[in-house]
Amino acid sequence: MTGDERGFGTRAIHAGETTDPATRAHATPIYQTATFAFETGERKEEVVDAAMAWEPGSYFYTRTQNPTTDALERKVASLEGAEAAVACASGMAAVSTTVFSLLSAGDHCIASEDVFIITRFLLDDVLARKGIEVTRVDVRDLGAVRAALRPTTRAVFVESLSNPHLHLADVAELAELAHAAGAALVVDNTFLSPALFRPLEHGADLVLHSATKYLGGHGDTVCGVVSGSQALVDPIRYELDALGGAVGPFNSWLVARGIRTLPLRMDAHTRNATAVAELLAGRGEVRSLFYPGHTSHSQHALAQRLLPRGSGGMLSFRLEGNADAMYAFTNALELASIGVSLGDLKTLAYPMPKRDDLIRLSVGCEDVEDVLADVERGLAAVGR
Ligand SMILES: *Cc1c(COP(=O)(O)O)cnc(C)c1O
Repeated sequence: MTGDERGFGTRAIHAGETTDPATRAHATPIYQTATFAFETGERKEEVVDAAMAWEPGSYFYTRTQNPTTDALERKVASLEGAEAAVACASGMAAVSTTVFSLLSAGDHCIASEDVFIITRFLLDDVLARKGIEVTRVDVRDLGAVRAALRPTTRAVFVESLSNPHLHLADVAELAELAHAAGAALVVDNTFLSPALFRPLEHGADLVLHSATKYLGGHGDTVCGVVSGSQALVDPIRYELDALGGAVGPFNSWLVARGIRTLPLRMDAHTRNATAVAELLAGRGEVRSLFYPGHTSHSQHALAQRLLPRGSGGMLSFRLEGNADAMYAFTNALELASIGVSLGDLKTLAYPMPKRDDLIRLSVGCEDVEDVLADVERGLAAVGR
């Protein structure tokens, strides 16, 4: 815990950032430097030793520590209610560095069936080639998770709200199962952000994000971050330093800047996505809808319990008809762009022909009337 009793919105703005001690700059400066000069030759030894023990403020080289990145890490740790956080070059750097830190050859990992596609490549292919066995199960089925546990299981990896099918993970139940087996629970919280859900409060050991998405929030940078206890984050720092996935100071600065408005944006994303879900649910062109905040979702009751502030801006759905319907919808959109990624202020649509013609919508923060008009435009084009 961070011991900062201020409200979440206040911490989103203030946590981790202070008036710059060198210049009194009020906004956090971008320390765009590779190296930091030592006062004396003797001092070099002290600073490097402290840095390699992960003591905060021991700056000597930006791959290892940087003041701008520190500000981002302190801010995210505060919001997740974590002792420590470490920022990485991308969300995938956060995912891969975390699993490499927890797992060695001969270890076993349980992971969700429904996960981000590149995470799937890492789990199913890259880890297998390193001698780490992964069993992927539907983590909504706690019996299946229990049955998959082995004496060698060291980690359980889930997405709090999964990409792209919007399955909700019951983190408290999963934490109990994992801990009873001596495994760590790692939660990818990208779709929800700490404004809507804080997995550590439910017993998870580590929480990570593609900060590219809601934390950054503006679709203008790539970054990742992992938070948890000092005892778990320090080895991830060590692993990251060795693997070389450090984030650049400018990207850290962009994400810290984005986070200041995170609670405001998440409320707007949720309001708009709720309205879009309501519209889609009432339409004959729509075959199935996946939005935990809507009564039609199979885990709606769990969502109401776990996500009292709302389910966020992501939803997915299938249209009646074949891929032609999916493409007719996406190609008719004028406000939304067709693109990968999500969590941007701008609405993004992503057609998935290899996922049974699922359309994933990252509902943005535009005026709701304009978002709804765009969805209407898409629906009107279906079957025309
Ligand atoms: C995008 C995404 C990632 C990967 O993040 P990058 O920043 O693109 O490397 C990981 N998990 C989820 C759920 C994502 O949506």
